[in-house]
Amino acid sequence: MKLLVTGGAGYIGGIVTRMLVDAGHEVVVLDDLSTGHTEALAPEATFVNARVHDAAQVLTPAAGFDGVLHFAAFIAAGESMTRPELYWENNTVGSLALIDAARAAGVRRFVFSSTAAVYGNPTELPIPESAVKAPTNTYGATKLAVDMALTSEAIGHDLGAVSLRYFNVAGAYLRDGVQLGERHDPETHLIPIALQVAAGRREKLQIFGDDYPTADGTCVRDYIHIEDLARAHLLALEAARPGEHRIYNLGNGNGFSNRAVAEVVREVTGRPVPVEIAPRREGDPAELVASSDRARTELGWTPAKPTLHDMVGDAWAFYRSQILEKA
Ligand code: UDP
Repeated sequence: MKLLVTGGAGYIGGIVTRMLVDAGHEVVVLDDLSTGHTEALAPEATFVNARVHDAAQVLTPAAGFDGVLHFAAFIAAGESMTRPELYWENNTVGSLALIDAARAAGVRRFVFSSTAAVYGNPTELPIPESAVKAPTNTYGATKLAVDMALTSEAIGHDLGAVSLRYFNVAGAYLRDGVQLGERHDPETHLIPIALQVAAGRREKLQIFGDDYPTADGTCVRDYIHIEDLARAHLLALEAARPGEHRIYNLGNGNGFSNRAVAEVVREVTGRPVPVEIAPRREGDPAELVASSDRARTELGWTPAKPTLHDMVGDAWAFYRSQILEKA
């Protein structure tokens, strides 16, 4: 297929592009490099430096695109509470422009990076796709708005849409001499920050809140290996059907508290990770754990690397070789 990948210079978009190219697809990456890196770009893909808002410049009827995979977005849940306008403009307004462009270009398949944050504080655990959607942060709200627009688009204009609701993505892609991983600046995610502490690049890990209604009082998240997540995108692309909006949660069904994550980072790296309890981060749900039964049944998706040790091990290998040794 001929595919447009937005955000293909990012952590997840870059790895999915690598796998799409390896599977024989023709890929054009659209990325404004606001948070992405040229090192993450697959050399076989054509790169266009532009915002999603301007996707119509590339996504023309004559270009013959079969599908769009839309990753480009701002993703820091904490920042989305203090700078919400950036998130609505980039994530929601940008996505609506992309959907318009896709419609005008006759694109039939659309795979969207949605998030567990759409559920907010869940009313049932593990969380099925049918659970109440009540985001507690702006990030989740901007993604839920796009999910709803895709449902309308599928019904109204026969789009074949798939939303993948990611739980917490971790690990790296380390194959055939290619090393792709997480590299945000500033870093906001728990595992890469804990690795910075283990590497001595940061004094301590601040854990945001220890008075949540969980076993040890810290928030609980369900981690998924980037390779397993990426593979689900290729399955979703094949599964897209005109007039349907399919929605799949992607996680392993296991919850790890923030304190437990720090402990796994200590075990994997063999280094100390000093922790300090800091105030809660605005908008954080206490516990997010996926039921991914639907992805398993309908997409035939099976995670190959479900353990947090594997994820942290791969993230640590990437961090050491690509960040510490090249610094
Ligand atoms: N977290 C933390 N300290 C940090 C970064 C994150 O305690 O320096 C917590 C955060 O409050 C949440 C969990 O780690 O409870 C996962 O946060 P992250 O930003 O990695 O992903 P999110 O779940 O927000 O997508």
